[in-house]
Amino acid sequence: MGMAKQCKFFGHIITIDKALSVRDGATPEHRHSLLFECDKCGKPVRPRAAGDKHVAHFVHIKENPECLYTEPPREY
Ligand SMILES: [Zn+2]
Repeated sequence: MGMAKQCKFFGHIITIDKALSVRDGATPEHRHSLLFECDKCGKPVRPRAAGDKHVAHFVHIKENPECLYTEPPREY
């Protein structure tokens, strides 16, 4: 329920803030190899920074309608 504010990263649960700083600290090549996984369904997710209509959260790279996490509509 609700938006994903944490995920699994190499076996550890990390927060969205941590994930964003990991991503922002990575080189562009390294960024592709970062694997964030949904802590509910285990599918790959990526961190999304806060915007006008939403707080920072994780989104599934490939949409997973069966996951317990809900995602706000994409406006980009
Ligand atoms: Zn999920």
